[in-house]
Amino acid sequence: MSYPAEFPISNQLLEYRKEHENEDNGNTTTDGGNLAVNVNTSLTIGKRGPVLLEDLDFFDIMQHFNRERIPERVVHAKGAGAFGFFEVTHDVSQYTAAKVFNGIGKRTHIAVRFSQVTFEMGSQDTTRDVRGFAIKFYTEDGTWDLVGNNTPIFFIQDSKLFPDLIHILKRNPVTHVRDWNMFWDFFSLRPESIHQLLIFYSDRGIPNGYRRMNGYGSNTFSLINKEGVLVYCKFHYLTNQGISNLEANSATLIAGQDPDYALRDLYNAIATGNFPSWNFYIQVMTQEQVQTCNFNPFDVTKVWPHSSYPLIPVGQLHLNKNPSNYFAEIEQLSFNPGSFVPGINGSPDKVLQGRLMAYSDTSRYRLGVNYLQIPVNSPNRINNFNRDGFMTIRSQGGAPNYHPNSFGGPEESVRAKLLYPSMELKGISGFYDLGFDDNFTQPRIFYQTVLDDGAKTRLIQNIVNDLKNASSFIQERQINVFKNVDSEFGRRVCVGLKKFCDFTEVDL
Ligand code: NDP
Repeated sequence: MSYPAEFPISNQLLEYRKEHENEDNGNTTTDGGNLAVNVNTSLTIGKRGPVLLEDLDFFDIMQHFNRERIPERVVHAKGAGAFGFFEVTHDVSQYTAAKVFNGIGKRTHIAVRFSQVTFEMGSQDTTRDVRGFAIKFYTEDGTWDLVGNNTPIFFIQDSKLFPDLIHILKRNPVTHVRDWNMFWDFFSLRPESIHQLLIFYSDRGIPNGYRRMNGYGSNTFSLINKEGVLVYCKFHYLTNQGISNLEANSATLIAGQDPDYALRDLYNAIATGNFPSWNFYIQVMTQEQVQTCNFNPFDVTKVWPHSSYPLIPVGQLHLNKNPSNYFAEIEQLSFNPGSFVPGINGSPDKVLQGRLMAYSDTSRYRLGVNYLQIPVNSPNRINNFNRDGFMTIRSQGGAPNYHPNSFGGPEESVRAKLLYPSMELKGISGFYDLGFDDNFTQPRIFYQTVLDDGAKTRLIQNIVNDLKNASSFIQERQINVFKNVDSEFGRRVCVGLKKFCDFTEVDL
């Protein structure tokens, strides 16, 4: 694959030179702003001599270089991001008093990060994987982070299994290679994964870049209106560029030729004024509907069927600005599903519950305790009693750092209290495993009615290509999961595997 020279991503340095050609470039400095004496050669005793300890320019360069990398994200390490705005197009005040949705035409600045889930920073953009689609809304009430994926559901129902899930998606700890026995062993033992697995192996498993895929909040959230009435909700953001996916063979080819395919596509589109957008919808479910719903609406392996819970239009997401520096604005861009604004909050969804705590913890590890003071993460306003810690930049001046106090300082918001969710929750505490509830009805609908014949054939081919690498006892167990979705589906995977494997116990 070759890209024409006029593509902005190839021209970044040429553009820089053009913009600055009439400027004085100034003198090289150290990080401290002191004039550097020499940045090309080390200070030595004689032409061939050893380097002197007093070559302070060298220390400044080398010691900074040694610290250039920070821990990469354990998941969602490889990503691309951009900035833009969210615009309200429809009135949803009957459901939520959130200011971000307040008034048709209202615009809120946003940052979006797209990502691969599984592999490292250096991996290929066209591998089969779930894609992250995370949005930060910089609202007047603080930042609201909607941290979703390009699929409406997920592999597991309980965050306690999340580390296991990620372990089996990544590398074998001994060989450091992806291990298909680990992968299929886990999935065949946890049948709640089947719905997400079908979408993973369908055409949407390899989107054609980040602009041509949908996004979903995936988890169940809550909305609270100005009377304090709560409804549960799902978020959908549907692409205006049209869904487009890569067929498995061409994705493999691109992976070799241009591992940064999706990143390049997004950057070039925005730089040439071809701004991507998504229509933003909600689905809502009242607390009364929760009681009569024939599936668990807080189970993230389930969708809310469109026919019962139609998409309600809210607004549009627009991306129109590339980052000015990747590390500062995208690598350090940090999301927290627990960062809500009044009028939007969480739900008993067990995967969401685990995420509420995990993201801020990982950001404190990766970026430090004051990660929210990094400009791209920083809200418009901070008004509280937290102080100090590594890299403090926003200090809050002379205001008291404790409360109650007699010297002035922020008061709790009556509005935030009114809009805090109040849910009726009853039950007996216990470790409940939902994994063996009805896992098959929705995947069956997906397989039987959403996929056409061609899509079914490609799904089966994609599964066979990976499942053929697992041991036969694991293959057999996974085929039984497929048969529970649809017997013909299970049989076709089995027939596909027969070309590669030799097992007899599965009843054809
Ligand atoms: P519909 O029968 O009304 O519509 C099917 C939906 O499937 C489409 O709207 C589209 O969602 C999505 N879709 C189409 N092709 C694929 C694919 N290859 N991979 C993933 N999604 C695809 O939907 P229902 O609500 O009645 O649900 C039927 C089944 O559709 C579900 O069991 C689920 O598997 C799947 N689905 C449902 C979604 C929902 O939120 N209800 C969302 C996505 C999938 P979209 O418009 O979001 O692109």
